Amino acid sequence: MSIQQPLGPRLHKSHISVAQNASGRHLNVPIYELSDGIDGPTVYIQSSIHGAEVQGNVVIYHLIQALKNITINGKIILVPNCNPVGTNIKAGEYTLGRFDPVNGTNWNRGYHFDSKQIEDFAAKVSKNDKVDLIKHEFKAALKASIDEKLNQAWGLGLAQQLNLKLQRIAVDADFVLDLHNGPVSTRHIYIPEYAKESAQLFSIPHCIFIPNIFAGALDEACFCTWWTLSEELLKRHNTQCNFGIEAFTLEMGSQEVIDFSEGQKDADSILGYLASKSVIDTSKYRPAKMQRIGVYLKDYKTLFTDFGGMVEYSVKPGDFVKKDEVMARVLNIDDLDNEQGVGQVLAPCDLIPMLHFPSASVLSGTQLFKCFTNFFEV
Ligand SMILES: [Zn+2]
Repeated sequence: MSIQQPLGPRLHKSHISVAQNASGRHLNVPIYELSDGIDGPTVYIQSSIHGAEVQGNVVIYHLIQALKNITINGKIILVPNCNPVGTNIKAGEYTLGRFDPVNGTNWNRGYHFDSKQIEDFAAKVSKNDKVDLIKHEFKAALKASIDEKLNQAWGLGLAQQLNLKLQRIAVDADFVLDLHNGPVSTRHIYIPEYAKESAQLFSIPHCIFIPNIFAGALDEACFCTWWTLSEELLKRHNTQCNFGIEAFTLEMGSQEVIDFSEGQKDADSILGYLASKSVIDTSKYRPAKMQRIGVYLKDYKTLFTDFGGMVEYSVKPGDFVKKDEVMARVLNIDDLDNEQGVGQVLAPCDLIPMLHFPSASVLSGTQLFKCFTNFFEV
């Protein structure tokens, strides 16, 4: 008689139509659901909502490979390449993946958040309601309002439709990870301030802590909703409800890049987080011991160039840069014969650039760098 090996997680693959092109073809994305039928949290991970930010797809590939051999307590939902419209808009060598080409809106700004809905819901919660019940009912309410938006008679823009269809799945999750890339970028992660401790659970060296302000992105739509609800309930009943919901945006290097070995590290980092949250049953993945540098969102600054021209980026993402250090040199074509030929962009204070613009030719007013200022060790 042979000993039965554990079968490992069961994988269920389905598809969802997130858009329809002018020829009438539905643009489907795959949804990979992994579960061993054990009770536990739900995890939702998507990649490439911005079409040029493709590295998350290789991360999801590595996650699926690893999860085949790991017991899952709960459910993990993976949605790679969640924006097939964005991925396919090419102009020559480049992918124009940041904006819905029809309406011009950022693909990561159309998710649902409604503070009035949260207030109204909180008003109906009674003091003795259990957290699980509140969570269950509020998720149902969120799904109903997303459906209502999707079915409204006046319709919605392309990006918002796509966002809401994805969010409808993410609403069920306790942990939401949205995988992005910067233009030319070092690894960093956006973390809600209340989940600051979770910075230690990822192997990512740079952490941006965000307040309870919704600006349209998926992570905010997830955590601001539950954060606001717990604040409302605290006001009304003087009790602290911990819904245990966390959501993050992970920026995994530069756009237009697929790197399998870096992707393995990113997947291991996510598995370390999931192991710490007991979603997966393994001691193989642990958050790395590393220096982590944090910043509050208000101190995450954009450096614009006042000059247009051809740029040499003199500092790299992740470098420590001193005030007045040259960050970029801009070649001015009309003044190559005199001292105005080269303009310099200086660091306004001590900082760490996280990312810079990907092109060497820039117009004045271009966002050249995004930088940590007033940073601290986490
Ligand atoms: Zn992005």
